[in-house]
Amino acid sequence: MDKQLECSISSCGGNGMPLSADWSCKDQMVPSSDLIPPGVCNLLNPSTIYANNEVNLEEVDIYGFDYDYTLALYSSALDEMIYNKAREFLIQHYKYPEGISKYDYIPNFATRGLHYDIQKGLLMKIDAFHYIQLGTVYRLCVVLFCVPDDEVMKLYGGSNHVPLHQVSGFYGKGPKMKQFMDVFSIPEMTLLAAANDYFISNDIEYDPVHLYKDVSDAIGMVHIKGYMYKWIIGDETYAVLHRLASHGKKLFLITNSPFSFVDKGMKYMVGKEWRDFFDVVIVQADKPHFFNDCVKPFRRLDSNGDLQWDRIKSLNKGQIYKQGNLVDFLKLTGWRGSKVFYFGDHLYSDLADLMLRHGWRTGAIVPELEVETKVVNTDQYAQSLTWLQALTGLLERMQMYRDPESKKVLQEWLKEREELRAVTKNLFNPHFGSIFRTCHNPTYFSRRLCRFSDLYMASISCLLNYDLSYTFYPRRTPLQHEAPLWMDQLCTGCMKTPFLEEMAHIR
Ligand SMILES: [Mg+2]
Repeated sequence: MDKQLECSISSCGGNGMPLSADWSCKDQMVPSSDLIPPGVCNLLNPSTIYANNEVNLEEVDIYGFDYDYTLALYSSALDEMIYNKAREFLIQHYKYPEGISKYDYIPNFATRGLHYDIQKGLLMKIDAFHYIQLGTVYRLCVVLFCVPDDEVMKLYGGSNHVPLHQVSGFYGKGPKMKQFMDVFSIPEMTLLAAANDYFISNDIEYDPVHLYKDVSDAIGMVHIKGYMYKWIIGDETYAVLHRLASHGKKLFLITNSPFSFVDKGMKYMVGKEWRDFFDVVIVQADKPHFFNDCVKPFRRLDSNGDLQWDRIKSLNKGQIYKQGNLVDFLKLTGWRGSKVFYFGDHLYSDLADLMLRHGWRTGAIVPELEVETKVVNTDQYAQSLTWLQALTGLLERMQMYRDPESKKVLQEWLKEREELRAVTKNLFNPHFGSIFRTCHNPTYFSRRLCRFSDLYMASISCLLNYDLSYTFYPRRTPLQHEAPLWMDQLCTGCMKTPFLEEMAHIR
């Protein structure tokens, strides 16, 4: 039996309806589509599309896409190639010491969404409330050195709170702090670590601000030179575009990449006639400025990719446009509001302005979901998390017991809680844990993801699992004042007895 179908039957009524449904009318409950969405399974499925906001696809007539890491996904082998090319560029063009060439790429070194203190050379994880998660601050060298908590507090004025609005812009870029948000960040962080390591271990004085800028430029050059299409793995891109187009949906592309680069990749993934799928194609758009100012007019490229001088009065199918801005785009197409859905991987450059200023629907591509949902599905994670929650509940309830024996037990529980937190963190990444959570809170990345995207998913191929009239309903998660206390279900009646001793024995 089909695995997905089997899973649906075991958790549902066998026809996509919940078990609590009235079975007297089960014969009438026939799904109108063969597609059984992966979200109906008990286990998290990496093909699921997750909803932050209710979205009815039936209302969406126009689908827009970013290119890199949205239509085109790349194999992880690309990271090493970007690293090697950027390292070469740094040495040859910026005259960095040859010794840096001895530093090879380190796989799985860091994760996306981390913040980098450009002046102090520190990489760290920050939560939704702008607090640094202690134990995740590292000097950016090839052997990551965890900065002790008391030193972190000293470095940031006696607190682990970072006033991000003073040190970093809305789009997560400098002047003092940068958030590594795109997928190029992984080789970028690794190259920064290699260069830092070389200068420090050879006792060479250098300016970390210059280093950050030069590495960032070198990484950008690899992208512009356009080697990347060889590592494309977007093998379902054709199926997604074909399905949308054959249902009468309009499609458009807005990318920062140059035409020659996109053309190579799209021919490889979709075929020579890829442009037939799109009603509008815009390259070198300069997002996020494309979305938030209306300075640059559209320009047309001819079939050789050369710029034309004519004034743009309409955006026509079959043509390629460069630059432009969203205000003109809206005027020329009339594509407004929630009938437009735009997919992108960069929360700021692709999605933030569309969500906050223009009311388009937005979908975030988060490839890390594939690995993270696998971890969440393991027994080890489930057991650790369940006991972590139970321990936290016990600590909350029992903290008022002050006798020496109770205090001792509380200390043991606190210690065990710390150990469990380390276990759950290490399941994702030994240095930084999950990209979505710190110990207490959602990460800064996670909060932004919820704010700027209606839906999020591992890749656009997840769309193939859903009917085009499907409505995504966000799960109602309780607010703090609505949620039951940690142990309410378990502890009813227990409080009347010397409960702490009891619980200690039960364990
Ligand atoms: Mg992109």
